[in-house]
Amino acid sequence: MPPKVAVVGAGISGLVCAYQLQKKGIEVTVFEKDALPGGRMSCLEKKGLCFDAGANFFVDNYKTLKGYCCELGIEHKWQPLKSGKIYGFSEGRIHQLSLSLNALIFYLKPVPFLQRLKLIYLLYTLAKTPIKGSFYNLTELTSLDQTNAYDYVLEHVGKEAADHVIDSFTSTYQFHGAKDISLAAMIALLHEMVTHNSEFAAYQTIGGMRQIPIALAEKLHCLFSCEVNEVRTLPNGVIVKSSRGEEQFDAVVLAATANTSREILKDPTAKQREFLSQVRYAPTIMVSFLVPEELMKAIYLVMVPFIEGGKICIYSSEGVKGEHFQRDGLVVVNAALHSAYAEEIFADSDEIIFGKVRDEIKRICPYLQDCDCIQDHLLIRWQTAMPIFSHGYLREVESFLKDGQGERSVFLCGDYLNSPWTEGSARCGERVAEALYSLQMQLPRP
Ligand SMILES: Cc1cc2nc3c(=O)[nH]c(=O)nc-3n(C[C@H](O)[C@H](O)[C@H](O)COP(=O)(O)OP(=O)(O)OC[C@H]3O[C@@H](n4cnc5c(N)ncnc54)[C@H](O)[C@@H]3O)c2cc1C
Repeated sequence: MPPKVAVVGAGISGLVCAYQLQKKGIEVTVFEKDALPGGRMSCLEKKGLCFDAGANFFVDNYKTLKGYCCELGIEHKWQPLKSGKIYGFSEGRIHQLSLSLNALIFYLKPVPFLQRLKLIYLLYTLAKTPIKGSFYNLTELTSLDQTNAYDYVLEHVGKEAADHVIDSFTSTYQFHGAKDISLAAMIALLHEMVTHNSEFAAYQTIGGMRQIPIALAEKLHCLFSCEVNEVRTLPNGVIVKSSRGEEQFDAVVLAATANTSREILKDPTAKQREFLSQVRYAPTIMVSFLVPEELMKAIYLVMVPFIEGGKICIYSSEGVKGEHFQRDGLVVVNAALHSAYAEEIFADSDEIIFGKVRDEIKRICPYLQDCDCIQDHLLIRWQTAMPIFSHGYLREVESFLKDGQGERSVFLCGDYLNSPWTEGSARCGERVAEALYSLQMQLPRP
């Protein structure tokens, strides 16, 4: 009999893991609490207009995700965003950038001249120094995890550079500041942006970010609206208790966030408990509006440094994604909040959040300043938006993967395992499938 494995969570990491296990002949059941797959790679819809509520775009160097599009027959959906300009907000104005090292240069404006030179030299040297590993698997780069990005730049360049450049840059992609990001993650991302510059263009899947999860789920045995409440281990397997009762499996992959995995795993080993208790996430709230299309024609993305208000860290005009995001003269505009501000207003009602974010977007978007016809569209609160890859954390993951992964047939899976973003999560799913398969094949079977 083939081994039976339960995967808890139909986010991208769980789906990829399940798909790879199934390809190896393992019988897999995916449990998902929501009605649809995708998790933080989701897309909601209202009045025929989409809202990419979590992950917002891919990059052309996401080789794994791009590969799945081809394998699953949806390669035609993997498309570049229509050209749209990228800006940074600074001192009451927006300035054009490109999604590359230039984006950093914009933040240099308030930095003293000598620090500017030092910083450019430092970033250039870091970006060009060969590294063995990738941003999408930070476990390969633990040797670079010597400090956090903020302190490193503070020491080697100066306070203004750390505050205005590194801190701002980090919050535009992680929602939190640079004291909480490992130097290894900063260097690895610089490498992706500079060394693979031509492949760092923004991409989408036509019809919203959920397309790859949907295509994967169609190939699998997925139980939707089926929340797992408990996972208990047995000497020869695991019990998964969900809304449809208790079932026994040979192994389980916990592919929900670390918080949920900690809650549902009732008898963790010491290593599992200790590791899961260390994982931290930055929250955010994604808020979307409908605005007259002609006002936003010139813009795709605007990055907003924390020091420029501390509320919205990035906003985008989603019209660059095509017809699903604009209609009848209106276009969807998304705003993501800095984690500290998200935390502050998390418990407010939707109406209050829409009001606060609308006021802020009018302040920081010159084309919307005098617009009195901004319509509220959709919003979503993410308590666990981005794992915090802080200094020291990378080694904790490395040590867990070496000694704790797979203990008592329980496997953890997800972006928080040093696997940032959708591409990192997908690659993590593949590695977990490989690890589980190797271990299961060594076990005696009745
Ligand atoms: C606002 C935001 C913007 C982002 N922007 C980008 C971006 O532009 N590009 C990019 O590449 N990445 C981006 N990311 C990061 C990316 O979305 C995540 O890294 C990735 O999707 C994580 O996938 P995962 O499978 O690890 O976890 P998740 O997607 O969180 O999947 C976990 C799944 O488990 C399910 N689940 C939870 N509890 C249970 C339970 N008890 N029983 C059953 N199922 C359960 C959940 O419903 C979910 O489907 C963004 C994330 C957020 C939040």
